[in-house]
Order: sequence, then C-alpha cells, then structure tokens
Amino acid sequence: MERIIASIITIGDELLIGQVIDTNSAFISQELNKIGVWVKRRVAVGDSKEEIVRALDEESRDTNIIIMTGGLGPTADDITKPVLADYFGGKLVMNEEVRKHLVYLFEEVFRRPIIERNLKQAEVPDVCTVLPNARGTAPGMWFEKAGKVFVSLPGVPHEMKGLITTEVLPRLQRRFEMPFIGHRTLLTAGVGESFLAEAIQHWEEKLPAHLKLAYLPNYGMVRLRITGWSTSKAQLEQELDTEFATLKKLVQEWLVIDEDATLPMALSKLLRSKNKTMSTAESCTGGYLAHLITAIPGASNIYKGSIISYDNEVKISQLQVSPVILQKVGAVSEEVVLEMAAGVLAKLNTDYAVAVSGIMGPDGGSPEKPVGTVWVAVGNKQKLVTQKFQFRFDRDRNIEMTATQALNLLRK
Ligand code: ATP
Ligand code: MG
Repeated sequence: MERIIASIITIGDELLIGQVIDTNSAFISQELNKIGVWVKRRVAVGDSKEEIVRALDEESRDTNIIIMTGGLGPTADDITKPVLADYFGGKLVMNEEVRKHLVYLFEEVFRRPIIERNLKQAEVPDVCTVLPNARGTAPGMWFEKAGKVFVSLPGVPHEMKGLITTEVLPRLQRRFEMPFIGHRTLLTAGVGESFLAEAIQHWEEKLPAHLKLAYLPNYGMVRLRITGWSTSKAQLEQELDTEFATLKKLVQEWLVIDEDATLPMALSKLLRSKNKTMSTAESCTGGYLAHLITAIPGASNIYKGSIISYDNEVKISQLQVSPVILQKVGAVSEEVVLEMAAGVLAKLNTDYAVAVSGIMGPDGGSPEKPVGTVWVAVGNKQKLVTQKFQFRFDRDRNIEMTATQALNLLRK
C-alpha cells in the first residue's frame, strides 16, 4: 500500500529571524502521524509571494497533502491569501458565512466596532472550501489541484489546533485511504548510540521495509522507536510486538523502561509499584531534580521533597553534614554526598534518597576537581552507594547530565 505523504509549510518572517519558534509544524506532524499520514518535509518561508509559490511548487511534487500555516491576518505582511487565489486560479470574493462570523465576533465577543480591514478577512479565494475557524477571525482554506490537497491555516497556534482537530483531520480521513501507523518505544541509559547500534545491527538489518527504527539520544539516554505502517491493524500490532520483544532482549542490559516514558516517569512507576517513597538532597542541581520528579503527574505518591543545600551552611544545619568533613575534603566529595543522603533520609523519612554535589562551571574548578566533577549518593537507610562522574559540558548540560545520571543510579 502506498503511504499518504505530507509536507508542512510554515509562513512568516518572524519564524525566519527566530523571533517566534515554529511549534505549529510539530503539532501538525504529530496529529498527521496519528491518522497514518507520513510527514516527509517541513519548510519555513518568509511572507514573500515568490517564496510561497516556490515552496508550493516544490513541496507538491512528491506529496499528497500540503499544510500551510500563517500569513492570513488583516495586515500588509500577511499575503498568503492573494497568493493562493492566484496560485489556484481564482479570485478573492466575500464569503457570507465568514462575514457573519466576523460581525458576531466583533459585536458579541470583542465588543468593538468592525472596520473595513477586518472585513477583508471574510474574503476568500472562490476556488477553495472554507474551513470555519470557531476560535478566531481567519478561516482555514482547503484547495485541491491535480489530486493533491492543499490546506492553509492561520498561524495563531490555538486557532490552528482547533482547525486541525475539527476540520482538517476528519476531512483528510474521508479523502484518503490511510494505512495504520503504530509505534513501540523503549528507553535505554548508560550506553552510547553507536555502541547500541552495533549491538542490534543484525536485527535492525533484517527489519521489513514497512518497519523503521529511530535512535533518539538525549543526555546519556537513548530512546529507540520502531514505527510501522500497514493496511491491517491487527497484523501490524502483531509484527510490532514480535520485533519489540526481540529488541528488548537485545538491549536488556541498558533498558530503563519499555514504553514511551522519561527517566523520572520510569523511576516514579518503579517506586509506585513497590509502594516506596523518595527524597532528594541537592547541591549543584539547585532543585532541578525536584522539578523533574514533580513534573510527573502523581509524584506526590512517591516523592516527599528536596533539601536544596546549595550553601555549605545549609548542608550543616539541614542535613547534619559534618563541618569537619566539609573543611577537610570539600563539598564535592564522596563523604559529603553520603552524609547528605543520610541526612535527607532521616529528615524527610523516606525509603530512598538521592544526593548530588558537584562543580557545574564555568568557574569553581581546580586541578584536583575540574569543572564537571560530580559525586552522587543513592540508597536507603541500610545501604548507600556512590558514584563519581566527570562531565565536560557547559553549566546547563552538566546540570542536566547530573540529574539524569543520579536518577538512573537510583533506579538501578
Ligand atoms: P491572524 O489572522 O490571527 O493574524 P495569521 O494567519 O495572520 O493569523 P500570523 O500573523 O502569521 O497568522 O501569525 C499569528 C501569530 O501566530 C503570531 O503571533 C505568530 O507569532 C504565531 N505563529 C505564526 N506561525 C507560527 C508557527 N509556525 N509556530 C508558532 N507560532 C506561530
Ligand atoms: Mg504573519
């Protein structure tokens, strides 16, 4: 079966100068994927007739669906509409439904007089099907040319999302025969992506053409995702299950969780299943561990809190770290993280704890303890284990790596 292929064109000078980050195409990709459409390319162009036409020509060459967002406003920079009228061989005409909707919005919702410029938004090319925009002023537009579908949507994310969900997806599903798309995802830690690739090479090479493997590395973790498509949902699910089972066996050693979840989610799930609680004692991460864990819904079941002992005085007063040890070996040391972990276990009375102390940079390093030196202690009241890490990144990434490795150590 042929796949249904789409391309997304985002329009607006603000996207090209980096003033606005293009979040629209990520959303549209995800939604199209869910209904079985393969997004092949995404391009951004400025508010320029030449660039829009060129993108339409190029993107429609080998795709079935082209989705555009942006440039539909009432201001001079928003030129998409006349360009589309021209491109599809039509002219702009007043659409009565849209005009009524605009008058309603201005009179009943915005409560301000409607001016000529606003009414221009009710003009649409006479060669399109209007997609009513319940959330805003600019309607969506649906064109067909040479068996391909072109959709133009407003750039405002909230309005675009409404139109995608209520208008575009249902129409596409009626218009094309879609295959089923399925995914299986797992998360690994403590292994680089090249090493992982070697370990699963034999299996990966034998995957059938309609199943694809993606490597998604991020801060010391690699997510592996198998994506497949087929006309038969049952057959696809079965194939994915079989391949996923093999993959899981091959990466068993590094497997964190066999679903599309993050490390904090995996840890939270593990603690919940054991009915255990945890706490954190954070020096160099300054609350970031707490943030990562509390970002997971239901964290209150497993997490009691953090003592952010950034300053040595706080380590002493809140975690009973010995001033003598601090003086002797310094805050970034095995001794101190052990005392921090023991301190928070006692103070917050949890089953497990994580303690971290390190030098995140750019300053504060020394020959014995360069920037990126981190000590982590994890465990319970009976047993604590420690590990030293040496990261070589900038401050933000060092913090991220510390958090990832600390949580992974606890999970083990
Ligand atoms: P409106 O009729 O409401 O003016 P429009 O179609 O003219 O809508 P634009 O003027 O291009 O849309 O953009 C409207 C808003 O949407 C802007 O604030 C812009 O920052 C935002 N926006 C546009 N494109 C994107 C995108 N690809 N991702 C995220 N935000 C976007
Ligand atoms: Mg614009």
